[in-house]
Amino acid sequence: MIQLKALLLSTRAEYFRLELAEQLFKRGREIPLVGILAAVTCATLFQTSENKGALTIWVIAFIALYATSYLALFLPRRKPNANTYAVWTRNFIWAFASYGVMWGVFTFICLESLGFWQEVALFMILFAIVSVPMPVLAYCLPAAILHPILVLGSASVLLIQKSLEPGMNHETSLLVMLLVASVMSTYKQMIMAKSLVSSVDDRRRLSTSVSTIQKMKREKYQDTVTGMLNLEGMVCHMRKARLSGGTGYTLLSLKVDDLEQMYSTHTKSIVDRLVKVVARRIESPAGGALTVAHVGLGEYLILTPEQDAEAEEGTIGDLFQAFNHPYFSGTKQLYLTVSIGATSLCSDEHDESAVISKAVSAMREAAKDPGNSFARYDTSMSDRFNRWMGIRSQLQHAIKSNEFTVFLQPKVEIETGAVSSAEALIRWQSPTMGIVNPADFIPIAESTGDIMALGRWVLREAALLVQNPMLPDAFSIAVNVSVKQFADPKLIGLLEEIAQELKGTQRRIDLEITESALMLESVEVKMMLRDIERLGFGVALDDFGTGYSSLSYLTQLNADTVKLDKSFLDEIPVNTKHAAFVSSVILMAKTLGLKLVAEGVERKDQLDWLALNQCDAVQGYLFSRPLAFPDLLRWLECRTTQPEVIESQLLTVSPT
Ligand code: C2E
Ligand code: CA
Ligand code: CA
Repeated sequence: MIQLKALLLSTRAEYFRLELAEQLFKRGREIPLVGILAAVTCATLFQTSENKGALTIWVIAFIALYATSYLALFLPRRKPNANTYAVWTRNFIWAFASYGVMWGVFTFICLESLGFWQEVALFMILFAIVSVPMPVLAYCLPAAILHPILVLGSASVLLIQKSLEPGMNHETSLLVMLLVASVMSTYKQMIMAKSLVSSVDDRRRLSTSVSTIQKMKREKYQDTVTGMLNLEGMVCHMRKARLSGGTGYTLLSLKVDDLEQMYSTHTKSIVDRLVKVVARRIESPAGGALTVAHVGLGEYLILTPEQDAEAEEGTIGDLFQAFNHPYFSGTKQLYLTVSIGATSLCSDEHDESAVISKAVSAMREAAKDPGNSFARYDTSMSDRFNRWMGIRSQLQHAIKSNEFTVFLQPKVEIETGAVSSAEALIRWQSPTMGIVNPADFIPIAESTGDIMALGRWVLREAALLVQNPMLPDAFSIAVNVSVKQFADPKLIGLLEEIAQELKGTQRRIDLEITESALMLESVEVKMMLRDIERLGFGVALDDFGTGYSSLSYLTQLNADTVKLDKSFLDEIPVNTKHAAFVSSVILMAKTLGLKLVAEGVERKDQLDWLALNQCDAVQGYLFSRPLAFPDLLRWLECRTTQPEVIESQLLTVSPT
């Protein structure tokens, strides 16, 4: 909160100073030219035989001074900017102060009839009119009131005093001129003060009270959920840090894994509470040294002073540590993990958004690893991030113009070699980006909510394909369903339609659901699973082994199939740890009466080992890559007409 307050004040002051320098530049341009004219006119008017020498030196020196300041300040046509406003303001104050001194000297040279104190007063009036840059007064209220009173008051007193003397001499006319100049100067100040205040950031709203200004600023830079800075606030803070020079900074992007999924399955107030708890956890190890902003659902930016590698490791370690203890939601415990990306803020990097993009790309890279993970930015990430942005921006259009197709990858029963099911895998043929992998666009579709429309489309398409008469009589297609789709109000209706269509046939649709840390916390998800069971859809627990792999998921999901993730099978049979894990999963599946499918089988030795260990079915490049529907039909045809192909692929070791 203190950081926010300081930021509000400093931002306001920064805008103000910049505006001040610009106004000085805009309005100061005419002053040297008018000054030269005024100096020559006054020197001519007040010239006497006694002061001729001194007045000539004065006017020559003054013309030179005006000309130099004009050349130095205005001829290069460089306008002040946020980096140079301090230099500009200082130069102006110097130039104007010297004009003030020169005009003050004029009173001593020319106005001999004045007494000493009158000369001093006149000197001050001239100095004040010329030397105090007007907008400065607008910034400081007492000066803005005192200055015109001082100038107008003393000028009037002098004028009254003078007008009591008979006749209108040069001195009286000069005083009249001064009085007029004072009135004009005050008027100009008022106008400039008004335009300055209204040009500080938001013109319309800033003309109201200071508290409104502060409230508006607070809203603009404050995240409503956590009370921390928001994205705009962080950008502003980073700009300030850069302008203030000093040591370098590191920007961290931190994201709580799987929070979007939670949003689709929990009420907003529960998720908001979690986001707040996370914010406090980040802030507490950060102490006062870091600036933290909440910039998106469960996404935070953290600005830290640059550290050596060891200290940075310490900071990241502290952040991970903060998530080691569980979060309690009612009676349930949730263990959260975070992904952190980091990048350095170089002094020559003037685009804050670009720095943020780098930190976010690094975070997305880190998020690919399960659990708490960290990555530092490198240039290749930017390309990937740009592609990510490209995908995100084109996805909706692609759904509307139907750029997707469904490929099918057959599942082979190990014991019999029969193929009675296939997995539907979506493919995007983008006219601009070529083939885009589901692994690249499904997570994006999940985060934008487009997965709902996309998922319904895949289900429709799979339901259409599975009814094709060219397929074997008993055939099923398994469709991947993201947990995000469970929040889709149209999903159950569609599943009911499909169940109706398939009623009385031997064709089926199965649903592959990936285990998730958060999904079973929600009543909505539980109800959805009950409906799925009621309608008779088969459920497979996908990617088993990669997440939390708990038995309770298996029972709560009412799954009838477990799909073992490819990563555990790649090194089988050589990797004994993986082999032990897989055989125990097979045993568990058997005990629970579940079917076990091994994914991503590419080699014969894997197949042999799985057969030996009584795995039920396999899916993988060893048999077939995912195929377009007509290719799948040809592939199936080939297998029935040439059974020796199956023989050659299948079992060298028969199951015991
Ligand atoms: P998944 O459900 O684990 O699907 C298996 C992935 O492994 C597929 O990648 C498949 O092409 C690939 N694969 C199969 N056999 C082999 C093999 O022998 N070797 C290797 N290297 N890879 C193999 P794909 O099609 O790129 O899909 C990736 C992921 O995208 C899927 O992983 C699934 O989670 C998701 N996905 C695909 N289609 C859909 C969909 O329609 N809806 C949803 N929600 N997710 C989908
Ligand atoms: Ca799958
Ligand atoms: Ca998988």
